[in-house]
Amino acid sequence: MIFSELPSGKSVEGNEIEVFKSDVSGDKYVYLMAGTHGDEVEGVFVLQKLFEWLKEDHSLKDIPLIVLPILNPDGYRMASRVNSQGVDLNRNYPTEDWSGEYTQDKYNPGSGPLSEPENVFLDKLFHKYNPGVILSFHSWKPILNFNGDAQDIADYLSSYNQYPVAGNIGYPTPGSLGTYAPEKYGSPVLTFECPVLKDDLTLQNIWDANEKGLKSLMQSDLLLKKLS
Ligand SMILES: [Zn+2]
Repeated sequence: MIFSELPSGKSVEGNEIEVFKSDVSGDKYVYLMAGTHGDEVEGVFVLQKLFEWLKEDHSLKDIPLIVLPILNPDGYRMASRVNSQGVDLNRNYPTEDWSGEYTQDKYNPGSGPLSEPENVFLDKLFHKYNPGVILSFHSWKPILNFNGDAQDIADYLSSYNQYPVAGNIGYPTPGSLGTYAPEKYGSPVLTFECPVLKDDLTLQNIWDANEKGLKSLMQSDLLLKKLS
């Protein structure tokens, strides 16, 4: 697929938030994004490998696609979950359940919804290029967490990687993208939680376990169906 780079965003520290668009336009877009939590290098790596392949393979169907490799470049540079103001970007979206209260620093939701420039940038992208479905790559324990109408995608990927599928990760996540995008844009979200690196598990291993499923997904009709 052919991609062009869109004007980048700026993080709190002024680092660029790069974003790319396929040369196919549509009323709605498939979003592939990673690095909301800067220390979750596993998800960043998987998306990087997938994006390399997407750029090389010209036999794919025409998919209106937005690729955002690292939403939180400050956190990525610092190997920190939160951004440089200490905010968890995945608790900072203007959902109905947004709350300023938090029990652990790592879940700091910010001073208000969309207080962080990284999320303001993402939301502006959503306005301009409406999301039809979002795959957001993280790492924690392997799980395919769907919000909205994305269980079919989760089940499809699980048939390749055997990660558990869940509509709920077991604890509340107010202000998360998984709540926001279905609520505001009617866009389902698949939060793709990779396993975390260990002595016997490398980034390459994690990609190897997901390469076939993700490539097959991109070649299937599942994502395109979400755009209609
Ligand atoms: Zn995460």
